[in-house]
Amino acid sequence: MARGLIPAPLQQLARALDDLPGIGPLAADRLARKLALTPALQTRLLESLSQLHEQIGLCPVCRHFSNNNECSLCQQHWCAGPQAPNDRVVVLQQPDWYETLLANGQIDDNDQYFVLHGLLSPVDGIGPQQLGLDGLKSRFEITQTRPRRLLACLEDSVEGKTTGYYLQRLAAGYAIEFELCSPAT
Ligand SMILES: [Zn+2]
Repeated sequence: MARGLIPAPLQQLARALDDLPGIGPLAADRLARKLALTPALQTRLLESLSQLHEQIGLCPVCRHFSNNNECSLCQQHWCAGPQAPNDRVVVLQQPDWYETLLANGQIDDNDQYFVLHGLLSPVDGIGPQQLGLDGLKSRFEITQTRPRRLLACLEDSVEGKTTGYYLQRLAAGYAIEFELCSPAT
């Protein structure tokens, strides 16, 4: 259909959907048309997005998703403090790897955590700041919250290697032992 025939709100919605990973412009157009034809789905999405906006954020300590400022990772693992029985911090590329890595024994209940939600990618404008790595560094600055070891769980890609190298150098600056693991498949 000629673009001029499509109302502006529908075009805006399609552009917003196209910004999501893995969608693409054709699927974004199709999803926008489906939404325009389905008021009940619009209502469900509006309610979900409103709750997401009001309740979900990132934990200031470990950067896992928090719900109304409550972080399930920190509650289970004492990410913030010296109370942790194990002195290892696990840096996760994605939070959804947690369950599998735990089930495979690559990480354990005694670890502390830090979630990147991505990888360093200078060409895409994603640097240490975008991944919250200054927060991890500030944890290392304080002796009481500095782990003895760092395990980085990153995918095997150019960006994964770049991120691993950055973390290795960061750990070395604080005499923290560095280990690398790939996500379990
Ligand atoms: Zn947390």
